[in-house]
Amino acid sequence: RSTLEIKDLHVEIEGQEILKGVNLTINGGEFHAVMGPNGTGKSTLASAIMGHPKYEVTKGQILLDGEDVLEMEVDERAQAGLFLAMQYPSEISGVTTSDFLRSSVNAHREEGDEISLMKFIKEMDSAMDYLEMDKNMAQRYLNEGFSGGEKKRNEILQLMMIQPAIAILDEIDSGLDIDALKVVAKGINKMRSDDFGCLIITHYQRLLDYITPDHVHIMMQGRVVKSGGPELAQRLEAEGYEWIKKELGIED
Ligand code: ADP
Ligand code: MG
Ligand code: MG
Repeated sequence: RSTLEIKDLHVEIEGQEILKGVNLTINGGEFHAVMGPNGTGKSTLASAIMGHPKYEVTKGQILLDGEDVLEMEVDERAQAGLFLAMQYPSEISGVTTSDFLRSSVNAHREEGDEISLMKFIKEMDSAMDYLEMDKNMAQRYLNEGFSGGEKKRNEILQLMMIQPAIAILDEIDSGLDIDALKVVAKGINKMRSDDFGCLIITHYQRLLDYITPDHVHIMMQGRVVKSGGPELAQRLEAEGYEWIKKELGIED
């Protein structure tokens, strides 16, 4: 079972402090949801964990099974078991979805332990079936001309193929119609095991109708200001964020 610990994390973008002391621990077997208003630092948290160069960690720690993630290069983070599904997946012209997927699977494996082409194709076919994806997508250039729903399904396809220890899914539900949302949730739920921990970042409670998180955290102004169970997400859906601001005395 893996553990990702985020301790008093402070992150700056271009000299401006965005994260002001985030604390979170995600264990294998647990689904955590992070919710919060726009501009509160949710994507910044995801990017800092994955090592985006624009995000400077000025204080605090990120540990994966006690190992210092901040000391790792981006590819080492992937190899150590971290996976990030980005809010805005990029398009790569000239690289097919299938080739990209195979290199990402291998990037998450030890050198010399690359997946065989046969095994890769078999696993990809079966995961694509599960996610009700059109097989032709595998031969199209990565994300090029993909609809919002196709991009997000493709991120979940990667997740299922890579089988990371810890995944961070940033707004994997944004722009999805209800059918795509259900398929994405089905893929994430299939990952549930003691060997998998997940941080689901979402602006809306909607996804959490299909994925029941074990823990829900509210982020505001660069900090986790409240944590609870699934009922916290339901209260946000019903009442918005104002009551939390009042309760905690947070000014806009
Ligand atoms: P959220 O995901 O919660 O909506 P973000 O982490 O995307 O919030 O953004 C937090 C704050 O950081 C916002 O004020 C945003 O404008 C700022 N920010 C995010 N990314 C960048 C960037 N690349 N350059 C400058 N400012 C940024
Ligand atoms: Mg946002
Ligand atoms: Mg965001």
